[in-house]
Amino acid sequence: MKIFKFGGASIKDAASVKRVASVLNHFPGEEILIVVSAMGKTTNALEKLVQSLITKNKDLVRSQIKELREAHFRIVDELFSPDEHRVHNDVEILFTQLEIISQSPLPGQYNQVYDQIVSFGELLSTKIVSSYLNSTDYQNKWLDARRLIRTDQNYRFARVDWPFTTRLVKDTIQAGNRYVIQGFIGSDDDFNPTTLGREGSDYTASVLGYILEAQEVVIWKDVPGVLNGDPKVFTQTELLWEISYREAIELAYYGASVIHPKTIQPLREKKIPLRVKSFLNPAEEGSIIKEGADLNPKIPCFIRKDEQTLVTISTRDLAFIVEDHLSKVYKIFHQYGVRVNLSQNTAVSTSFCINNDPVIVPRLIEALQQEFDTTYNEGVQLYSVRHYNAQAKKRVQEAGEVLLEQVSRETYQVVVR
Ligand code: ASP
Ligand code: MG
Repeated sequence: MKIFKFGGASIKDAASVKRVASVLNHFPGEEILIVVSAMGKTTNALEKLVQSLITKNKDLVRSQIKELREAHFRIVDELFSPDEHRVHNDVEILFTQLEIISQSPLPGQYNQVYDQIVSFGELLSTKIVSSYLNSTDYQNKWLDARRLIRTDQNYRFARVDWPFTTRLVKDTIQAGNRYVIQGFIGSDDDFNPTTLGREGSDYTASVLGYILEAQEVVIWKDVPGVLNGDPKVFTQTELLWEISYREAIELAYYGASVIHPKTIQPLREKKIPLRVKSFLNPAEEGSIIKEGADLNPKIPCFIRKDEQTLVTISTRDLAFIVEDHLSKVYKIFHQYGVRVNLSQNTAVSTSFCINNDPVIVPRLIEALQQEFDTTYNEGVQLYSVRHYNAQAKKRVQEAGEVLLEQVSRETYQVVVR
């Protein structure tokens, strides 16, 4: 069995859904479990709907649902003839359910409401994709991830209950079949919908790959594979053919957005290869993440994190910064849920580069100011280069005024403004 994952961009309109079918035609007779995200930017739209529900803006709720309905039916109308009642009916039922939930008292706290609403994106997309594939004679069964992916009640960031999920998945998935299932969503023990964190569909693919001991997991993208830099940020990027699990985790840690470290972990454990391929050119190899050499070709990899804040703290009495201070500082970071992307010490000060969350960062700074002299620069950028060389260093140094620089054996990092 292979697991294929198609993200929002690969099913954003009718033409792309048709392309999914042609990609699958390259794999005749293979057992494939297809994991699908919400169409295009549906998840963002549903997040906005949650806001309107919470703020009880009824007009906005109505118009937002209407827009979502129109967008989905536009795709349905292009893919199916009007007499294909089944899919029209399925999509209609989902919108009716969405409307009923939207008019009922909110089911709980914000995060729970979020999961109830946002999960509709994947329910809608899978109904459409599964039906379309069946209509093109790519026989498949639609699966409900809420019945298979069991999680805790940590809504919006739910954690998978592995033993339960393993049993459910193994009982349901039969050899010789093909399936379409939602990524990103699951349910708790009471069947309340849960979600696994934004961009969580890759993780679903990985969980299923692990449980089913898949031959491989393939993530289909609109880029040729994993590149040595985000092509929207860097020019002259190159394709990485082979990446070790470990290197992939490192790249993701520094902010490479192609793959989430959480996705790699389960696959690494069972040595299941993860391929990243282009749905535009399915015959091309793409990138493979597997056990083995760090990188092939071994070239510098560039990562830029925008919207960073560089915070510098120093002791009031210019005492040396010692472990005691640092443990206090990290406790504060932990308390505010802030991850430190880079840190550097001098005798009497320490600097931290963190994501500039507009709500959290001011509170964090206030907390730090209780104990330390605290200064900060907002709106800076953090560049990280894995496997750097002199030329690669120069390239990022020239991106702006260098505020801080850090070199380790494999990674060069610089904060610029
Ligand atoms: N649709 C969800 C999101 O946009 C999950 C995913 O795309 O992986 O975050
Ligand atoms: Mg998505």
